[in-house]
Amino acid sequence: MTQPIAGIQKRFSELYGRAPAGIVRAPGRVNLIGEHTDYNDGFVLPIAIDKCTLAAFAPTDGRTVNLASVQQEGAPASFDLDADIEKGSPKWANYPKGVAAGLVEKGIELTAMDILFDSDVPIGGGLSSSASLEVSAALAMLAAAGREIDDYELALICQKAEHEFAGTPCGIMDQAISVMGQSGRALLLDCRNGEYRQIPFDNPDLLLLVADTKVKHDLTDGGYAARRDQCYSAAAKLGVKMLRDADADMVSAAADKLSDKELTRARHVVSEIDRTLRAVEAMEAGDYAEFGQLMYASHTSLRDDYEVSCEELDEIVELAAGLEGVYGARMTGGGFGGCAIILARAAQADNIAAEITKNYTARFGHPCVIFPTRAAAGAGSAQDNRI
Ligand code: ADP
Ligand code: MG
Repeated sequence: MTQPIAGIQKRFSELYGRAPAGIVRAPGRVNLIGEHTDYNDGFVLPIAIDKCTLAAFAPTDGRTVNLASVQQEGAPASFDLDADIEKGSPKWANYPKGVAAGLVEKGIELTAMDILFDSDVPIGGGLSSSASLEVSAALAMLAAAGREIDDYELALICQKAEHEFAGTPCGIMDQAISVMGQSGRALLLDCRNGEYRQIPFDNPDLLLLVADTKVKHDLTDGGYAARRDQCYSAAAKLGVKMLRDADADMVSAAADKLSDKELTRARHVVSEIDRTLRAVEAMEAGDYAEFGQLMYASHTSLRDDYEVSCEELDEIVELAAGLEGVYGARMTGGGFGGCAIILARAAQADNIAAEITKNYTARFGHPCVIFPTRAAAGAGSAQDNRI
């Protein structure tokens, strides 16, 4: 585990005046391939990373749940278990409040409690600090209530919290991998029905580098929601429920029925779903050269057809492609900034990271931050030895 628990234990005691009764953890993620496919009922292939949100908690008397975060200023937010749980201010507390509302809706009787969150997942950096916050909140609340629920159901509750309380219409990937991730495994998840396979991703000769651009470009047109809508209208015109049910031939045959944007968005989604399944075959066969080519193709499609890349992400992928020891690279996550990933030979990874950082800094005047990661365990107690 990257985050030692001594820090949060101490801070919890300072804030709430007693020791926590328990500490849970939920990781962030990177997606190896299968981008912008989850809300089209497609396939994704994420790994949990060894950066996580910790939630320290202790039940209290009374009917109040207190929420505080090391990453947020100000007094703890709170809500009352005898009233309807509603979103409000501060904004960050809407994530755990939404989770609480979802658990109550499932008939789980929550306990009055104090919670403190502490995360080493960069916030707003595309590694899904939001899902790790939600999942850690859910585990803390369930542990205090002495209840357990099914993994995928838990992910769905957290996704609903993000939709309804935080206002982000995300797919299921981030929450699912945070809950279901396994050490040394990538998760092939069918976002239509929650079926999954754990795919071995633990070859010691490989290293996955995450390159954080440290930029987040704001989009004036609600970029994510707009693309979602374009996918849904393309599916409707193709006469299918979701783009998952279409293929490349159907999309090109319907080109005159679709608007330009519907055509390019659909082309990305159907090709990306196909690439994801081919990438799993390549991974299982140990064919990392093929896996890497699929990563590059994914990036090109996200850049040109889905239009969610940016010059910083393109630069990292282009720099990586020119270096020895790199199998493939692509942007990961929603896009418009955030992170790229580079699949590299472990022995050359240091040199690759140094070269990319040097050239990136020369071009943009600020460095990108590159760190190696591996497929880490999903959410659980922070006090056992799961990792
Ligand atoms: P990402 O999930 O890519 O990191 P999001 O914009 O989806 O970015 O989520 C970031 C938001 O999640 C923050 O603005 C904040 O409201 C909330 N958040 C995430 N981690 C924490 C944390 N440790 N403490 C408080 N709020 C957090
Ligand atoms: Mg998020």
